[in-house]
Amino acid sequence: MDLHCLGGSQEVGKSCFLLDTGELRIVMDCGMKVHDHNEGPVIPGKVDVGIITHAHLDHSGCAPLLYKRNAPKTFCTYPTRPIMDLLLADSEKIARAENKQLPYASQNVKQLDKHLACLGYDEDYEFKDGSNFRFLDAGHVPGSAQILFKKGKRKVLYTGDFNTGYTRLHHPAKPVKADVLIIESTYAQRDHEPRKDVEKAFAREVEKALGDGLTVLVPAFAVGRTQEVLEVLRAHTKAPVFVNGMGKKVCDIIMDYPSYIKSPENFAETMRNVTIIQGKSDEKKAFREPSVIVSTAGMLDGGPMLSYLDKCNQKNSAVVLLTGYQVEGTNGYSLVNEGRVRSEGIEKVIQLPVKHFDFSAHSGRIELFNYVDAVNPEKVVCVHGDACKDFAEELKNEGYDAFAPAVGDKIKL
Ligand SMILES: [Zn+2]
Ligand SMILES: [Zn+2]
Repeated sequence: MDLHCLGGSQEVGKSCFLLDTGELRIVMDCGMKVHDHNEGPVIPGKVDVGIITHAHLDHSGCAPLLYKRNAPKTFCTYPTRPIMDLLLADSEKIARAENKQLPYASQNVKQLDKHLACLGYDEDYEFKDGSNFRFLDAGHVPGSAQILFKKGKRKVLYTGDFNTGYTRLHHPAKPVKADVLIIESTYAQRDHEPRKDVEKAFAREVEKALGDGLTVLVPAFAVGRTQEVLEVLRAHTKAPVFVNGMGKKVCDIIMDYPSYIKSPENFAETMRNVTIIQGKSDEKKAFREPSVIVSTAGMLDGGPMLSYLDKCNQKNSAVVLLTGYQVEGTNGYSLVNEGRVRSEGIEKVIQLPVKHFDFSAHSGRIELFNYVDAVNPEKVVCVHGDACKDFAEELKNEGYDAFAPAVGDKIKL
């Protein structure tokens, strides 16, 4: 078996790995480099099967590219399908607004839709050559999966993005034994603060701001983070909570697939206790008294949150609690580092206090090392992130046959 690393290798963005068994050419993930440009992977030759681990665009954003040459069957989990539809449509809209050319045609999106098949966790799908694969819960975002591929006795485990740490929304990812482990390395050089401590610190800031009569602005990614933060808020505060942005639709999708989250009962209760902003009157209500507003965009590049930031900045009437990593080049990054954002081409200085909380959906350093030990593979391929090389080096020192391939590299598995 060969593994061609077509993207997401020593980088975050355009994750794409071609597993060539000699009989089958399987593409695992087909993502896009989102923040700087709409770059996709270059896929050499024909594809027999596509498998998408989760809906984040760095893993699914170029899935339509699989249909440039032929029409493979592509698999994802049940919730990934509608979430991916939502994100692909949004990505197309942003590309149009920014005058950027997507690397695929709209025809390819229709073909993807036609050939997309859903599979639940822990269900085997057998290919014609006798090899098979199954999705395993990755604990990262709703519907996220790891891929366990088996050919004869040989097992290949690709983690996609995964989290073995505690969250309110998801069961943690669990390791299985495999001969080859392709593992994300995003936080290989950083431990996360214990989640319970992060929650407490976050809740303290919320209570303090509300006590001061302020609005609490919580920019949050639509997929997973919005819902996690809503659960955290319900557990820690009685404050009125409002939700807006694309996260609303993702909340609906999660309600449609309750078996994909840890506690559908808790989530349903959470949703009963929040106000979904449907229009101007809900917005007015949100600003009438001290309240918490959770909305996209998580990195403040557009969405209702950017206009709330502007509105509150003029009156100095809010605190901003960031809940995710802010990528360089985004408004979130410039807010944290320079105290300014760009909105509709105009640069604005933001006076509001800004705090950051690590609600990461990725395994931290210690969890990554523990995972490798539990899977106990013969070969480890470290992908996804800036820390791949260091991670592989450290694993080598522990006696593992570990690599950090570059984009374009081919590895014998
Ligand atoms: Zn992800
Ligand atoms: Zn990713």
